[in-house]
Amino acid sequence: MEEYTLPLPLITTLSKVFWDGCRENKLLYQHCRDCGRVIFFPKHLCPGCMGHNLEWLESKGKGAIDTFTVTYEGAPPAFMGVTPYCVAIIRMDEGYRMMSNIVDCDFDALACEMPVEVVFAQVTEEITLPKFRPAGG
Ligand SMILES: [Zn+2]
Repeated sequence: MEEYTLPLPLITTLSKVFWDGCRENKLLYQHCRDCGRVIFFPKHLCPGCMGHNLEWLESKGKGAIDTFTVTYEGAPPAFMGVTPYCVAIIRMDEGYRMMSNIVDCDFDALACEMPVEVVFAQVTEEITLPKFRPAGG
């Protein structure tokens, strides 16, 4: 594995389940058994009903681009070497939103509402990052 030099996510006791899932190429999110709300990023309490009755479910990994930006220049120093790159908010079919990169695509062809699907990029022994690419490509 090539040395990965970009900043890495901080794994907390709360987010560990999510990152463990990514390592197994599973995209996990939380669901409130009491009020039905879907929750992302991981929380201790349901933001809908303040309950603790949360469970982890596996996403099908499909969604659509809500909004996105492509950075061609002016990136933070750590990201200078990987421009251009795309950061997007993805609206998952299960009803939650997450921020990630769109990869394996022509950036000029990106558009809001474009269907995307998760791909997993193992960057270190511990961290596998969920990224997205145009669906069915
Ligand atoms: Zn709830």
